[in-house]
Amino acid sequence: MRPTIHIPVTSDRRRRPEFRLRASYVRAVLGAGGAPLLVPPIPPADAAGQPRPGGLLLPGGGDVAPSRYGAEDSGAVRLVDPERDEWEIALTRRALEEGWPILAICRGIQLLNVAAGGTLIQDIPTEFPDALCHATPPDRPLHHDAHGVRLLAGSRLACIYGAGDGAALGDASVRVNSRHHQAVRDVAPGLRPTAWAPDGIVEGLETDGPSESPFVVGVQWHPEDLAPRDGATRALFRAFVAAAGGAR
Ligand code: MN
Repeated sequence: MRPTIHIPVTSDRRRRPEFRLRASYVRAVLGAGGAPLLVPPIPPADAAGQPRPGGLLLPGGGDVAPSRYGAEDSGAVRLVDPERDEWEIALTRRALEEGWPILAICRGIQLLNVAAGGTLIQDIPTEFPDALCHATPPDRPLHHDAHGVRLLAGSRLACIYGAGDGAALGDASVRVNSRHHQAVRDVAPGLRPTAWAPDGIVEGLETDGPSESPFVVGVQWHPEDLAPRDGATRALFRAFVAAAGGAR
């Protein structure tokens, strides 16, 4: 049996209302042996009785409303969807409480951090003018090599990308794509940073617990666009799906 992976979709109300999800998320989960299940935004009360899936993939998208982490809107936030925020935060809190494996990508790592009680940098270029460019020009491909990321020795990410014992390898470095203007600021209780860009921007979060704690990994890059051409990135999806199937 393929483990079921819930993936919340985006409500697009700008034109005719529809739900959207980039196909690359679905293909990456399928390629790793999971059964993707696209879930529409519904009120938390209606979702409460739904059976738990094998795992939860939080995909990319617009910014989380600053009010969700107790901040004033600096004027730089984009594409806020209050309903999506509310529903995904409730879903993520349930997943954390019930120990569902989580893979959180781009907006997902930010949403994960906010759901667990952390805060965000609202706009990297205006708050940190010396930071490197975390945006990618629209004429570049989605897998565009943007910057390096240092992985914390012994972390899940280092073990996965190091294809073995990350602790023995020491800090590993990987090349990633980058399409974000926000990032994790204060890391939520229960999570710890495990990946950083060269400018110090947090690019990875994991649970701050023993290695047998549930698989909870957030990445600020877009592994779904790297997986087709990078085996180490496919290993990230395989590790997530394996955890969703009950593996430790
Ligand atoms: Mn980046």
